[in-house]
Amino acid sequence: MSKTLALTEELIALSSVTPEDKGCQSRLIELLEPLGFVCETIESDGVTNLWARKGTAQPLLVFAGHTDVVPTGPLEQWTSPPFVPTQRDGKLYGRGAADMKTSIAAMVVAAEEFVQAHPDHKGSIGFLITSDEEGPATDGTVIVCDALKARGEQLDYCVVGEPTSSDVLGDTIKNGRRGSMSGKLTVKGIQGHIAYPQLARNPIHQCAPALAELVAEKWDDGNEYYLPTSWQVSNIHGGAGASNVIPGNVVIDFNFRFCTASTVEGLQKRVHAILDKHGLEYDLQWSISGHPFLTPKGALSDAMSDAIKSETGVTTELSTTGGTSDGRFIARICPQVVEFGPPNGSIHKIDEHIEVRFIDPLKNIYRRTMENLLL
Ligand SMILES: [Zn+2]
Repeated sequence: MSKTLALTEELIALSSVTPEDKGCQSRLIELLEPLGFVCETIESDGVTNLWARKGTAQPLLVFAGHTDVVPTGPLEQWTSPPFVPTQRDGKLYGRGAADMKTSIAAMVVAAEEFVQAHPDHKGSIGFLITSDEEGPATDGTVIVCDALKARGEQLDYCVVGEPTSSDVLGDTIKNGRRGSMSGKLTVKGIQGHIAYPQLARNPIHQCAPALAELVAEKWDDGNEYYLPTSWQVSNIHGGAGASNVIPGNVVIDFNFRFCTASTVEGLQKRVHAILDKHGLEYDLQWSISGHPFLTPKGALSDAMSDAIKSETGVTTELSTTGGTSDGRFIARICPQVVEFGPPNGSIHKIDEHIEVRFIDPLKNIYRRTMENLLL
């Protein structure tokens, strides 16, 4: 049996629903220490993180990922139990099979093969593993990055093992992610009897033209790497529940997915300008869950694209679509960050799986990336 497949199955069997690690990282330490990695567990508020490094020279190539998985959803809907790795029809089923225990296993086995074949390789290899990616992400990668920064550890390249491929292994690398910024807008009116509108002020009526303008606004054109910034309403709540009451206020939740063509300050200013133009009485609370990051085409993306092409024949595409990831924290301390992993069609779903035929090639792509950068 393939070593990567065997390790993936071992990890899936550990039911590490976020923020639990359930021993995944101690298993990785058992494998990494004999290879010369110095392993350090960094705990924070019930979250277990692992920082492992082999070597002291630069460049430092880091492999990053998470051992936690999202909850299973209704167990009876799974064809086989989510924490019993099960192969059917050429696929390996289990929670975390795609997001992202196969990537973790592939990275570790790739490091083992690389170190054994090239004990005198240049530079260093690191692992940054957390059990808090699928949850609030406040005690995981961000904590380790802060600790590394404080001690002056210089990262040169980082590969995050998120499932980025879409149809076949290797078709997509993420070289950046959009930022995410939310707003909670409360538009104030005057509550009253619906039969006496002259004595009230309807905040739903008042905010409607402003919302229409926000929806129609073109925030930017995107750029070479990014789609244009988008603005979306996620919730609107107004009304007392009665059909004869004009509500006193309406609350609107919205979110920007923004690219590097816009700035936080610029977007906030433009939203306020539109609300002010419509003469609304309002309160607006902003929260930023991630700034955009971008790794332009360069040494790391070239090393990875070349590894993919040599291993699979697939010509890979650089993409910045999708949600936020821990790459946003690593990008603050590492100039080149890319994400690459298996197809993501089944992630977070019932019957999550990976095609078994992709498992060893994934490991080989990570190993070839090490060869391209550290030999
Ligand atoms: Zn993930």
